[in-house]
Amino acid sequence: MPPVMEGYKPFGIPMRELESVYLLYEEYEALRLADYENLNQEEAAKKMNISRPTFTRLYDKARKSVAKAFVEGKAIIINGGTYITDEFWYRCEDCHETMVSMEPATHCQKCDSDNIIQLNYKPDD
Ligand SMILES: [Zn+2]
Repeated sequence: MPPVMEGYKPFGIPMRELESVYLLYEEYEALRLADYENLNQEEAAKKMNISRPTFTRLYDKARKSVAKAFVEGKAIIINGGTYITDEFWYRCEDCHETMVSMEPATHCQKCDSDNIIQLNYKPDD
């Protein structure tokens, strides 16, 4: 189920100082199923068609990201996700650009840094 918004912005932080945390769609979905729909992790994992350890990992990451945004006054950007496409999603650790590629990428499209991390997980790792 796609989220109803692309993310959240905190009040009272000037735009120029606003930093973001990133939440993958599947992390959002894990949080929604567990904390909003009140499913247990077993049920939620089944619903997402993923293993229980994978669910736990997504769920932990989602909670950490949301807590970080909440405590540190960061925006939350919801994006990424293997459940929708086979594309590769990356975030540049230097300029924080998020990019989508049809092929594995090694460099940021914006600043050419090789300090990029892949956002979407492999379903069977
Ligand atoms: Zn970059």
